[in-house]
Amino acid sequence: MKPGIHPEYQQATVKCNCGNEFVTGSTKESIHTEICSKCHPFYTGTQKAVAARGRIDKFNKRYAKKSAE
Ligand SMILES: [Zn+2]
Repeated sequence: MKPGIHPEYQQATVKCNCGNEFVTGSTKESIHTEICSKCHPFYTGTQKAVAARGRIDKFNKRYAKKSAE
């Protein structure tokens, strides 16, 4: 393996739009991200809550329609 063909790996500060900052390994010194593990719906559960609400709405609509007929 030839030396110098790989960029130097260092610690990078990742700044997220939500204000969260964390350090990771990267070839860049600093990274700006729009989403991170703190604010990603997968981790916060927001998406889950929205999906559940959608199901309830659907159920209520169906139920209301059936009972109206
Ligand atoms: Zn974030």
